[in-house]
Amino acid sequence: SQDRVFNFAAGPATLPENVLLKAQSELYNWRGSGMSVMEMSHRGKEFLSIIQKAESDLRTLLNIPSEYAILFLQGGATTQFAAIPLNLVKPDDPVDYLVTGSWGDKAFKEAKKFSKAKVIWSGKSDNYTRIPSFEGLEQSPDAKYLHICANETIHGVEFKNYPTSKNGILIADMSSNFCSKPVDVSKFGIIYAGAQKNVGPSGVTIVIIRKDLIGNAQEITPIMLDYKIHADNNSLYNTPPCYCIYMCGLVFEDLLAQGGLEEVEKKNKKKAELLYSAIDLSNGFYRCPVEKSVRSLMNVPFTLEKPELEADFVKEAAKEKMIQLKGHRSVGGMRASIYNAMPLAGVEKLVAFMKDFQARHA
Ligand code: PMP
Repeated sequence: SQDRVFNFAAGPATLPENVLLKAQSELYNWRGSGMSVMEMSHRGKEFLSIIQKAESDLRTLLNIPSEYAILFLQGGATTQFAAIPLNLVKPDDPVDYLVTGSWGDKAFKEAKKFSKAKVIWSGKSDNYTRIPSFEGLEQSPDAKYLHICANETIHGVEFKNYPTSKNGILIADMSSNFCSKPVDVSKFGIIYAGAQKNVGPSGVTIVIIRKDLIGNAQEITPIMLDYKIHADNNSLYNTPPCYCIYMCGLVFEDLLAQGGLEEVEKKNKKKAELLYSAIDLSNGFYRCPVEKSVRSLMNVPFTLEKPELEADFVKEAAKEKMIQLKGHRSVGGMRASIYNAMPLAGVEKLVAFMKDFQARHA
């Protein structure tokens, strides 16, 4: 609508307009209950119906097999960096990390505190612009798991297919491409994601975990990090982030109504192709450093040939109601995050602006 901006932020990020309007209409009095979702007991029948529907819609969306539990947790994806080794391995167990950007690196550094974590490949020397071929990977023979970040939000590097762990399980941080395309969940031991990019507000983290991996936490594991506690209590051991879970539920309904993740992926591909080709066809005025085959459909980093124009670019775009285009402080340049909820019209407007800006400044 007229009074909304196109928000290219990496997260918290733009949400579907119809979801926001639905939440608005239900905010004051949720479906005749006489109260807002924010005021409900998490153990009352109203909220139970909300969390159960959210879980079952997510199961349908991602086709999650019954051997997997879905947990709605707090603490952000960052908390999972510690929870994963604490739940799955002993302090002396080897585990492998494939590091394709800053988030994978953060996950590794946290895991080192609770396991014998090893980086088996890092893209750091190439400024995190690629993903290695899986055949040549030297995995530790006894590694209990292999961890990847499926989409590096800052560097814009996305796995298009997945390695297999030699002797353990595969674990993926999908925070920034969760529900952006179909995923074969059965290839993974754990998939986890903070909600605040593709599926809701910040405050809830979704963990999809194969049930046989639950129940082996290290003795020192805080109760809030123990998957068994949360699985046994259907994510209601303590007060969950009720309103966030409700919002995620509305987003899942919306994604199903769009025809599911195959349809969503088609839209995401179309938006990304439009933006990447504008960059690639700009005669070097704009440049994306990421290797073409692994460019993210969600986060598009790009630089300007003349970096002195970057501040003007951001300022002029904001004047045209396109905000949050500045790249992450660690890499500079620009970044357009074009999650599920970014409409095609937003990307079209950005591309038109980029062409016009180039014409004025080339
Ligand atoms: N992993 C990835 C890929 C991310 O993009 C982020 C957040 N930007 C995180 C982890 C950390 O998530 P949180 O802020 O929810 O802890």
